[in-house]
Amino acid sequence: MPSYRAQSDKRVIHFHGDLGEHCADCSDVAGWLCDFPIGGDLTCDRRLCERHGRVVGDNAHYCLTHYRQWRAMNPGEPDYQMTHLRRDTLPAMAQVALGFLKEAFDRRDQGHRGEGITPFLRNSAIPLGADGVRVGQGDVADAPYESLAGGLHWCLEHDLIEVCWRQPPGRDPQPWFAMTRSGLAVMEGETVERG
Ligand SMILES: [Zn+2]
Ligand SMILES: [Zn+2]
Repeated sequence: MPSYRAQSDKRVIHFHGDLGEHCADCSDVAGWLCDFPIGGDLTCDRRLCERHGRVVGDNAHYCLTHYRQWRAMNPGEPDYQMTHLRRDTLPAMAQVALGFLKEAFDRRDQGHRGEGITPFLRNSAIPLGADGVRVGQGDVADAPYESLAGGLHWCLEHDLIEVCWRQPPGRDPQPWFAMTRSGLAVMEGETVERG
């Protein structure tokens, strides 16, 4: 069984499983291939993890070398902002974070998608441990992409989740997390366009 290594929050995670090929530049999972055109119908196809690739368009990625080359050829071109959100093009930890929230939601889901869905989503909020507290407190500027905090932060920035503060009796308020309507739509297979 293949094994992988990923740099996470202050530590290295080792994991095993059949997650496909390794990144060409490290031992992490390669989720992307470089889409840089190299002539004819061919693309570079270098295998990339999220640290060793750059998102340059809707489901389009470049390796770091080709990203720099593209940058040099297109000075002043703004970086791609994710304008189309789809489950399979979200960063891996954003998918993981949303997956937890979707699971909590599914346990109570009655299949109703009308007006009442927003309060229902909020009622399905869950706490997410130390990473959740960190994100709730806004202490995520340096959260690595590969951490749960990084995934939650990404989802918050892209309006896929929201923080609902809950105060257990006799304790400090705690951040709980819920999907927004956009988050639910993405998790149910829709493409959400952002203005
Ligand atoms: Zn890598
Ligand atoms: Zn490349």
